Amino acid sequence: MSNVELEGLRARLDEINGQLLELISERAQVVQEIGAVKEKQGVPKFDPEREKQMLEKLVASNKGPFTSGTIRTLFKQIFSASLDLQSTDHKKSLLVARKNHAEDTVIVLPGGVTVGGLSSLMVAGPCSVESELQTRTVAAALQKAGVKVMRGGAFKPRTSPYDFQGLGMDGLRILREAATAYGLLTISEIVDPRHIEEALDYVDVIQVGARNMHNFELLKAVGEVNKPVLLKRGLSATLDEFVHAAEYIMSRGNMEIMLIERGIRTYEKSTRNTLDISAVPILKQECHLPVLVDVTHSTGRKDILIPCAKAALAAGADGIMVEVHPDPATALSDAAQQLNIEEFNTFFNEVKASGLYR
Ligand code: PEP
Ligand code: MN
Repeated sequence: MSNVELEGLRARLDEINGQLLELISERAQVVQEIGAVKEKQGVPKFDPEREKQMLEKLVASNKGPFTSGTIRTLFKQIFSASLDLQSTDHKKSLLVARKNHAEDTVIVLPGGVTVGGLSSLMVAGPCSVESELQTRTVAAALQKAGVKVMRGGAFKPRTSPYDFQGLGMDGLRILREAATAYGLLTISEIVDPRHIEEALDYVDVIQVGARNMHNFELLKAVGEVNKPVLLKRGLSATLDEFVHAAEYIMSRGNMEIMLIERGIRTYEKSTRNTLDISAVPILKQECHLPVLVDVTHSTGRKDILIPCAKAALAAGADGIMVEVHPDPATALSDAAQQLNIEEFNTFFNEVKASGLYR
């Protein structure tokens, strides 16, 4: 074969490549249009029966030189790339997606305390509200340290039904009174939609705990109230599931959602859960919502809280949550992992000194 002939064939190949590219791009556009129609109809994007029919038709009209198997493989690849395109489009159309809302959402709490945006937030307080004295002691220490938001559990989702379940509404009342006395805001977990309305008087932020991240009725219920929500990542939730849980809340009209990474279950036993630091930049990239990191429940140990909090802030977290108890050894829940007041002061000072806390 002469060089001229070879050049000619190569030119023809380039031309065909160009045509194929144009055709698969045109095909992708049609697939996206189909995706939009399916989205409106609420029907699933992947239709295995339709894919099978398309493959059969292609194989039937295949005249070679490719075998039927090769044709199947090639087209399956094209189909799957198109399906990926549809799911990417779907993700981009979520209300929580940054694609539709380029600016960071900044939540303004009572008294002008902001979550997200330019300043970092420290949320601290006991795992459980246990008594007036315990709660007031923590509140006084937090006020002194310059913390603005206190957490404290009143409805505790415990592993064993025989463990302390929290003080319920009385706990929320104690939390509110202590917080008001020391000029703090409150965050507390609600586990039952029936408690939401009454809790609105006591909490400035409703926490949805890790165990309830998949409780869609609770998510819908907190989506219907005019109160910011702190949504914890589920024990074994993927980021996709986490983002969709936030979407459940937002789809009901509540736009004020903070996400909080609290560690996930893995095989690693050195920590209570595995702190997924990569969740922070991924969530910040995909969503416009503030992202916090709970260093206490993710690690379950006090000796690594400072580097973990620094890592969280360095990764772009808008805030940190940590458990503080006046006498952790006697705590009715999570005794091993709560900081005492002195330890908290050291922790907060170190985090601020790092320059990462804005
Ligand atoms: C909590 O923050 O009180 C709590 C129970 O944490 P989690 O839901 O992350 O386990
Ligand atoms: Mn706890």
